Amino acid sequence: MANYMPSRKDSPRATITNFGRNVEFQPAAVFTPGSEKEVLGILRGHPGRRFRAMGRLHSWSQVAIGEDVLLDLRHLNSVRVETSATGAAIATIGAGCQIKRVLGELERQGGYTLPSVGLISEQSIAGAISTGTHGSGRRSLSHYVTAVRLAAFDESGGPVIRTIFTGSELEAARCSLGCLGLILSVQMAIRPQYFIEEHLRAYQTLDEVLAAEEEFPLQQFYLIPWRWTWLAQHCREVDGPRSLFAPLYRAYWFTFIDLGLHLALLALVQLLQSPALVRAFYRWLVMLTVVRGWRVVDRSQNQLIMEHELFRHVEVELFVTRSRLAGAVEFVRQTVCAFGGEAAGTSDVSLADRGSYTHHYAICIRKVLADEALLSMSSGRDEASYAISLISYARPSNRAGFFRFAEYLTRAMVQQFNARPHWGKFCPLTAADTESLYPRLAEFRAICRRIDSRGMFRNDWAADVIFGGQAPTPRA
Ligand SMILES: Cc1cc2nc3c(=O)[nH]c(=O)nc-3n(C[C@H](O)[C@H](O)[C@H](O)COP(=O)(O)OP(=O)(O)OC[C@H]3O[C@@H](n4cnc5c(N)ncnc54)[C@H](O)[C@@H]3O)c2cc1C
Repeated sequence: MANYMPSRKDSPRATITNFGRNVEFQPAAVFTPGSEKEVLGILRGHPGRRFRAMGRLHSWSQVAIGEDVLLDLRHLNSVRVETSATGAAIATIGAGCQIKRVLGELERQGGYTLPSVGLISEQSIAGAISTGTHGSGRRSLSHYVTAVRLAAFDESGGPVIRTIFTGSELEAARCSLGCLGLILSVQMAIRPQYFIEEHLRAYQTLDEVLAAEEEFPLQQFYLIPWRWTWLAQHCREVDGPRSLFAPLYRAYWFTFIDLGLHLALLALVQLLQSPALVRAFYRWLVMLTVVRGWRVVDRSQNQLIMEHELFRHVEVELFVTRSRLAGAVEFVRQTVCAFGGEAAGTSDVSLADRGSYTHHYAICIRKVLADEALLSMSSGRDEASYAISLISYARPSNRAGFFRFAEYLTRAMVQQFNARPHWGKFCPLTAADTESLYPRLAEFRAICRRIDSRGMFRNDWAADVIFGGQAPTPRA
């Protein structure tokens, strides 16, 4: 085989499992190349085969599956900070570099940070942009990508590296679901490190929470199930300095929220398996763990990133536009009630599903500004989107109720609210849904056909849901 020697960890037909343990697959071959040259060697050495890259497998959807040749690009993890011709700071980041390493390196190489982050920093940069990973109050990470370096094939079938840095090709590459080719590195706009002030406050209505958005544009907020009141995590950028009590606040979050709250939930959901206790916990106890009104200033990533990866879970997240948010939230509430067996729930849920699933996690809502990308969840919309997230901590063997609930919710909300499910979370879209939800899908497909004319970088899921069933056409 060409000029690539697999590392010792590579083993054919290994079973690969994602973070959530809800996706499992057995690629025909797995490689962990150490350089771009080795990546090209793998492409050259496997004519007619299909290729996918994996990041850190923190996606819950089938987007992460690589049935044939799978490449783990974790060794492509360099980070280089430069100043562009216009004086803007940019970073060139190896595709497999974990976001936590990116953040550390940006800080070290001149006090910079990413313009947007999600709730965790475990993902690889290529994996994060490929599904439109986002935080709250800004655009998704994909939007800030200024160039993508890709390995793909040329017309004669030979491996080639392309750099995409402009126009609709860049908009496609910013969130490409692994379908354009193997991303080798990503260039992104970065910014100087900054401070965020945060405090928690309880509200009775969604309107009150939204009214606070002007003052706290980076806020995220939670609908507390079974109590049906709101908790806002008000965040805004400030000049600093870091609060004296910031380390104490961090210790509070880690002990009471990241650990304590989640351990209590695990006990209720996995050990006691008691819907009545879950409801009582949210109605009477949960707000006692929340310290309200304590304003703390800290460095951006300390405030924006949580330890949400500590306990295994699964998640569905649905993006709706601002004008549809109130209706969508009410629909979510009614659906949670119906699946939880309460009379107040929507009447459309079948009798078999009523009482089949008790939702047991705060429903998190984050605002995501419109992206300049073809397929990210907040792209192509002329108003901001709000991502409504629902999480289950049920044991992997006991998740059927959550998946039925998430499937029902997604199907109904696609129809009623044009809701777009996050590509990297539970994502039961059909090809017809994708066509109706993404007006620039045809453009995306045309660009993929130009760069990957034989469709060698699609998995079965993408071939079906993104390309409407167009299977790859291997060379004879
Ligand atoms: C605990 C937890 C918290 C999360 N929090 C958030 C959040 O706050 N906000 C949010 O938006 N999402 C969040 N997510 C979802 C997560 O950010 C996305 O699913 C992301 O895509 C995962 O990145 P990854 O590196 O694990 O990529 P993977 O899941 O391994 O892959 C995702 C996609 O990227 C493609 N890909 C990866 N590397 C390459 C490459 N080099 N070239 C081409 N394609 C590539 C893969 O083929 C696949 O299609 C969370 C997930 C978890 C588990």
